[in-house]
Amino acid sequence: MLVYNSQTHRKQELKPIREGKISMYVCGPTVYDQIHVGNARTFLDFDVIRRYLIHKGYEVMFAQNLTDVDDKIINRANEQGRTAEEVASEFSDASIEQMHRFGIMDPDIRPRATREIDTMQDMISELIAGGHAYAPGNGDVYFSVRSDPSYGVVSGRNVDELMVGARIEENEEKRDPLDFALWKAAKPGEPSWPSPGGDGRPGWHTECCAMVHRYLGTPLDIHGGGADLAFPHHENESAQASCAWGVPLANVWMHTGMLMIDGEKMSKSLGNFYTLKEILDKYPAEAVRLLMLQTHYRSPLDFSFKRLDGVVGTWQRLAGCVRNLRWAADNAEAAGNAGGDASGLVDASAKAREAFEAQMDDDFNTAGALAAVFDLVTTANTYLDQAGASASAEGCRAAADAIEDLLGILGIGLGLDEEDGGLPHELVGLAAELVGYAGDDPAEATDALLEARSAARAAKDWGKADSIRDGIAALGLVIEDTAAGPRVHKGE
Ligand code: AMP
Ligand code: ZN
Repeated sequence: MLVYNSQTHRKQELKPIREGKISMYVCGPTVYDQIHVGNARTFLDFDVIRRYLIHKGYEVMFAQNLTDVDDKIINRANEQGRTAEEVASEFSDASIEQMHRFGIMDPDIRPRATREIDTMQDMISELIAGGHAYAPGNGDVYFSVRSDPSYGVVSGRNVDELMVGARIEENEEKRDPLDFALWKAAKPGEPSWPSPGGDGRPGWHTECCAMVHRYLGTPLDIHGGGADLAFPHHENESAQASCAWGVPLANVWMHTGMLMIDGEKMSKSLGNFYTLKEILDKYPAEAVRLLMLQTHYRSPLDFSFKRLDGVVGTWQRLAGCVRNLRWAADNAEAAGNAGGDASGLVDASAKAREAFEAQMDDDFNTAGALAAVFDLVTTANTYLDQAGASASAEGCRAAADAIEDLLGILGIGLGLDEEDGGLPHELVGLAAELVGYAGDDPAEATDALLEARSAARAAKDWGKADSIRDGIAALGLVIEDTAAGPRVHKGE
């Protein structure tokens, strides 16, 4: 498997540190508001990367933090006359809830910065002891960037270039403008914890690095986040690890491209954002996933409602194809005919599986992987049109399974289970009334109704056939006459 390491700007063979195991850490949200769809894109891409690694047989240990102490949280709390803890708690819950709705798997470990203060202080002590950090006496602790000869490796910057424009703010007591705060002295009313140099709170870069070290060990296999975090956040995290423990923080750095709207990065500060919640209130999560995964994770992604509306149709067409394939297969079997030659669709399905894996093995090319699924759908639709009632059950099932399995690896369901099981119970009453059905199963009742309708049509009893159709329509369902026979589904 090839993985692009943004530190080396190259694709490299994925070589786990411990055989068969992968440790992954992805910077989580700062919880001062609902997460927006830009954040969601990054979380989705890593969710899919994780799912695919699991599919390949790796034992994946995945950690994602909640940044629940930060200037943004404190500012939001002050604006709203609440405590920072209240704000952080509300939006930690809200972020998790929306990620669940979006089908993002829970991390194996979800550390919260405010509960890991000891771990962070241990790291800071090691950095001070090693001469890589200093406390000027005002309660702050700074990391000394020039004490790390490898500073710049993650983001490809060099210290001299960074000096251009760098300056020390009035309220800071840095020795060098490049230095950054590991620990910030408490200001009145802010959350704080005791520390040897005085009460205070951790800096953001301190948090992730210390949590990685504690929960996954250093170096870990993959450290991820959005491309906007490569500098300074990941650079600083990496510098801390190499200075505190003498090891790189991560073997591979992976960065997702930005989600853009009207040519600009979606961000809270620009105000050009939609929350994940408002999008999922209007659109199926699967369609949003499908839209995002049609772009490779490293490329910028153009978000628009026009695209989203189009993708809802694509998702329904995928579901329609699988529904038709299953229907054709059921009918071929029910009719006691094995159907025509299966080999075409069986081969096409195996090829789609191979192409999908080849694309995903090449740095998680979800766009290429989806193209393999779409190709199979086109082949299957053409086959169904041509084969009609003599479709091969085996071929249809092979294609339906492949489409569902492959989309499933990407965490995209087609909603078909709910649909089948979701036939309304009123069908039982209708079948009892119209065709004397005596059972209690909506699916059986549907079959009884459809059989009676076919018999009525064959006997040219149009009145009866129409009353069955109208009764079904009154339940919000439609009968579709397909080449392989009639079937009932929810009206579109
Ligand atoms: P934050 O809550 O700002 O720390 O961001 C959480 C995660 O979302 C980080 O990994 C960011 O890199 C990522 N992120 C923020 N904005 C975008 C965007 N427009 N597109 C993709 N990822 C983003
Ligand atoms: Zn981080």
